[in-house]
Amino acid sequence: MTLVVQKFGGTSVGDSDRIRTVADHVARTVRRGDSVVVVVSAMGKATDDLIRLAHEVSAVQPPRELDMLLTAGERISMSLLCMALAELGVEAESFTGSQAGIVTDAEHTRAKILEIKPHRLLECLSRGAVPVVAGFQGVSTDSNVTTLGRGGSDTTAVALAAALGAAACEIYTDVSGVFTADPRVVATAHKIPSISFEEMLELSASGGRVLALRSVEFARNYGVPLHVRSSFTWEPGTWVVEEDPEMEQAVVSAISHDASEVKLTLTRVPDHPGVAARIFRAVADRGVNVDMIVQNTSLDGFTDISFTAPKVDLPLAREVTEAVAREVGAGTVSVDTEIGRVSLVGAGMKTHPGVTATMFETLAKLDVNIEMISTSAIRISCVIRADQLEAAVQALHEAFGL
Ligand code: ASP
Ligand code: MG
Repeated sequence: MTLVVQKFGGTSVGDSDRIRTVADHVARTVRRGDSVVVVVSAMGKATDDLIRLAHEVSAVQPPRELDMLLTAGERISMSLLCMALAELGVEAESFTGSQAGIVTDAEHTRAKILEIKPHRLLECLSRGAVPVVAGFQGVSTDSNVTTLGRGGSDTTAVALAAALGAAACEIYTDVSGVFTADPRVVATAHKIPSISFEEMLELSASGGRVLALRSVEFARNYGVPLHVRSSFTWEPGTWVVEEDPEMEQAVVSAISHDASEVKLTLTRVPDHPGVAARIFRAVADRGVNVDMIVQNTSLDGFTDISFTAPKVDLPLAREVTEAVAREVGAGTVSVDTEIGRVSLVGAGMKTHPGVTATMFETLAKLDVNIEMISTSAIRISCVIRADQLEAAVQALHEAFGL
């Protein structure tokens, strides 16, 4: 008997019909003889609605209370799914994150999983019942309810799969897998049957919206095979697995894009050791996730530093950057909200020279100016103007024969 974890995202459980459809799928899996642990997200836009309510009530949202509120979304879908399963004669029991033994640190609204104590889930499975677990939540070491950050149900699912030694973690969503580019932007984009953890990490980190980054990290660290697939068509999706060293890797597997970041530039930063450290320590201490960084060559002992950060963090990022600019004696801070990032990801890039040149040539032909560049062994990203982003993705998709 194999154990699988099946995770259903918000759209998969968006209304009562969808919940009954999901229950039917879980029931079939059980009748096939497999053991299943189900993880659910909140229904549709339930989490957004709860956040809106919080804003309506108060401008101050104590993180502990926000977490308490948001965890309610997943409680609704988990209990409804259990009822739909009962209707089909499948014994199921719902568990909050806390009841499922998901222990996190105490960082409200973005807690990290520290440990999983799955004895209640194991007991439920041993009775032949289906545990249905609320995604995106846990209980902190000081016994408060926590959430794992937006999109965190993927992480719940993968972490449970790892802790229970599941054969695979199936992530059901509203797209049929991981594509060579966003199909809404590139008409010829197609589904990738299988991709490595490393490539998926780069895709998730560079704007791919299919899987939460942290869940891919977990899957890679614990070797949990992921299967990303659609709960609308139920067709086979994309497997995210360990790279096969015997196989020739695609030079470029996919192109991702991201318009959710802003660029902050500090001018006239004194160019001596320790200044950049102070700036980025200050930014990091406020929890702003810096992505790309560019520093100019210095002129008369001063330099400019630009970095990108999530748009949602802009007010905070601007505030800390301005404060630290004054402290280190830098000039002004300017903000550019019209940037976009396009990235190429491919494991075969490691051994194939010329990918960067082809990328730059393709962008040059479109008259796209490259403003920032960052690379890893298997990714190249360029920051360009936001209004040229879609054209860039389309041209690159074609240039690399995807
Ligand atoms: N319901 C949460 C959110 O919308 C968690 C998730 O869907 O994974 O972010
Ligand atoms: Mg979601």
